[in-house]
Amino acid sequence: MSKYNIVYATNPFLSKPCNDVLKVTADMPKLIKDMFNTMYKEDGCGLAAPQIGIDQNIFVVDISYSDPDSKPMAIINPKFTWMSEITCTKEEHCLSVPGSGVKITRPEEVKIEFLNEYGEQKSLHAHGLMARCVQHENDHLRGITLLDYMSGLRRKMATKKILKIEKCLEQNE
Ligand SMILES: [Zn+2]
Repeated sequence: MSKYNIVYATNPFLSKPCNDVLKVTADMPKLIKDMFNTMYKEDGCGLAAPQIGIDQNIFVVDISYSDPDSKPMAIINPKFTWMSEITCTKEEHCLSVPGSGVKITRPEEVKIEFLNEYGEQKSLHAHGLMARCVQHENDHLRGITLLDYMSGLRRKMATKKILKIEKCLEQNE
């Protein structure tokens, strides 16, 4: 199993929309395993492919730390088919924006259709934390990060924090 390095939100790569996966091939389960591995090592509950430098519409989520009944899921080519009018505001964090959070208002419930890592068509009716996670990860696929939800000053501070962390990592190499 390999672990990827996380791409930070200051990298223009994370501002680019990703492409649909044209064909789910036999090596997809290995990529998904590596994405979960990377996510768990970084202590996240979601990870999108662009966050490890892959510009494809793929993400993984696992909210079992908060909902023991939920299962880890791989989501490929997600399409939102419904969003609730009722919204909910909560602070979100992101592995690509270390050290900063921002409050975001999103629909409380969503329905999505997608493929799993074996290319099977699936659907999900998500609410609460799961709905928030899939919307956050889907933002990554559209080139949107938490920085885009921040006001000018907050964005500046968050960017500074990322640059500091990058410097530390460089010095440790
Ligand atoms: Zn994120």
